Amino acid sequence: MLTVAQYLNLVLDSVTELPPMELPISEVNGCVLAEDIYARWPLPSFNNSSMDGYAVISADLVDASESSPVILPVVDDIPAGFKSLETLHSGQAIRIMTGAPMPAGADSVIPIESTDGGSESVQIRASIDLGSCIRHEGEDVKAGDLVLGKGTFIGPRQIALIAAVGHGSISVVPKPRVAVLATGSELVEPGTELKFGLISDSNSFLITAAANDSGADAYRLPPAQDDEDKLIHILEDQVHRADLIVTTGGVSMGAYDPVKAAFLKLGTAEFHKVAMQPGMPQGFGSVGDLAIPIITLPGNPVSAYISFETFIRPAIRKMRGLGTLQRPLQSATIRGELNSPVDKVQFARARFIEGGQVEPVGTGQGSHVLGGLAQADALIVIPMGVDRIASGDEVRVINVTGGLA
Ligand code: AMP
Ligand code: MG
Repeated sequence: MLTVAQYLNLVLDSVTELPPMELPISEVNGCVLAEDIYARWPLPSFNNSSMDGYAVISADLVDASESSPVILPVVDDIPAGFKSLETLHSGQAIRIMTGAPMPAGADSVIPIESTDGGSESVQIRASIDLGSCIRHEGEDVKAGDLVLGKGTFIGPRQIALIAAVGHGSISVVPKPRVAVLATGSELVEPGTELKFGLISDSNSFLITAAANDSGADAYRLPPAQDDEDKLIHILEDQVHRADLIVTTGGVSMGAYDPVKAAFLKLGTAEFHKVAMQPGMPQGFGSVGDLAIPIITLPGNPVSAYISFETFIRPAIRKMRGLGTLQRPLQSATIRGELNSPVDKVQFARARFIEGGQVEPVGTGQGSHVLGGLAQADALIVIPMGVDRIASGDEVRVINVTGGLA
């Protein structure tokens, strides 16, 4: 029997960060930067107006007020995307829109709200400080600045910056393509009628969604029968599409478990008992000429999910090039009690309640209890050597929501 930490290390050693790839920036959300990003030009790249208004010389408006407006001829009009060919002289105004380049000669912009909005001439009802309403070239980013370093997680806000400094495609660690296959002759597609003895496949949906939430590009395959030849056929096809294959079911001690046999025919695999509850039977290996990593999860949905959180999520994050692989453990006070096997780590489904407390959910902690799993947003981690947790105890908790970055 291995500890969770020992088995996690084996799984992590079996996967590597994916090689970098040049991708259009429309496709890099959630990826990790594989290069440093430098600004090709300053931001802003020219002095421009921060308001809709009139470019002026501020000294012309010192006497302007509500009761005695200054009237100036409007000698040009600059929408965003255009520049004025005029040079502004004292006693003139040029109408200007937000983001349009400042015309030569002007030193300030008076917002339209302080004027009558005229187009031939403009009445200005307020004075203005020198330099008002101008965004200056390079005040945000200088040309050549390192704006984002290799290894940075790219989300929406980073993509905006990359675009603004002039890059249409960049080198990133791509999202791992993860094929998810549930195995079991009892599985049918959800939504179809159940014949007695059959069940809806829920694992493949659970694991595909969890893998996508972990930053993978995961896709689900139709459930596979417990049939070695069929399994081999499915896996041989996937080794050309996937960076990682995840299966559920068929790795316990059951008599009709062909998954182990199929893996061993296609590559290498090792199967272990891990000192955890749920999720004791685990396996991993690699298949095909390209030695695509494969990880097998137990078939019980709760076991599959907890095994995913414990081993596959960190593996996906390693493939994505992230430095932090595991969710943080935090402390919380438990409301409710739990029993736990002394010789295993227990991952108990729980939810956060008011005051930073957690309470166990569901009708029990059995590994088939899906109702409780759906209410959970936390896992209480009860270490080896502890057999009982009483209400009010301090426990270690993993928040299992969010966490793409
Ligand atoms: P196994 O690991 O194949 O022995 O399966 C253990 C338990 O999990 C059995 O009760 C299975 O019916 C159930 N199970 C296996 N695969 C799935 C699945 N894809 N969706 C829901 N339950 C499953
Ligand atoms: Mg099975």
